[in-house]
Amino acid sequence: MLEIIYRIYEVADLEKQLENMHNFAGISYNTELTMDCKICDSREHFKELIKNEYGENIAFRNSKKLNIGDLYCIIIAEHCFNTERYFNRIEYKCSCCGCKVVGYVDKSVRLENWEIKNYLCAQFDKYGDLHFCSRKCKEHFIEKERKKCLDSGLVDESYISREDFKRKNIAGYIYKISKKSTEEFYIGKTIYLPVFRWGQHLKTERFPIKNITDYQFEVIEIVPTGENILEREKFYIQKYYKENPEKSLNILCTAHLEEEQNG
Ligand SMILES: [Zn+2]
Repeated sequence: MLEIIYRIYEVADLEKQLENMHNFAGISYNTELTMDCKICDSREHFKELIKNEYGENIAFRNSKKLNIGDLYCIIIAEHCFNTERYFNRIEYKCSCCGCKVVGYVDKSVRLENWEIKNYLCAQFDKYGDLHFCSRKCKEHFIEKERKKCLDSGLVDESYISREDFKRKNIAGYIYKISKKSTEEFYIGKTIYLPVFRWGQHLKTERFPIKNITDYQFEVIEIVPTGENILEREKFYIQKYYKENPEKSLNILCTAHLEEEQNG
């Protein structure tokens, strides 16, 4: 006898993926339909049971061959000695947008000490315990709180010259980082001088600083005050994704947008 814990996912379109990434930062960009446990004789028997329930065409892993709307099943564990671990959902509210985040592993996005120190006047008591649904929300939160710090005169250094931006009527920048070797790219936004944001990227796994000569940094739009920078960012993420879905580092995805366009 086998106990198999599994989840069923539906491949989401780009719009829905962006939404999933925002709302369910801990789980998946595709849409989770269910999580359950089945008792069966073997893996083959398990697959049979799942096919009976979800149809012959259900896949047993996520792959590039799947199309939007297709279902796939992921086996999370066999022999559930410690079932609670898998069903024990972690829930919290995003400190920025207020959305409920549900996850199985605590992957909540938190403020780093250096961020609190550099952007938020080192108010560790106030900001140390917050968590966010996504990196995006965290950045948005920093922008908001940073502005409060500036307005209340808590900040004296002009390390990040938000005030300069106001004078120049710039809401921020949309930038693109490309890897020359693989042609992969990442689109992002910043309300600070892009060079600060690029510096942050170089501390991440995705753009390790040791490969710096492989990267190309570009500003693709200077967003004027009054325009919605989040919308501009979304516009470029979608635009570049549609031109070259395989190379986008913004979406971890496999859904076939080309087919949607051609069809
Ligand atoms: Zn949020």
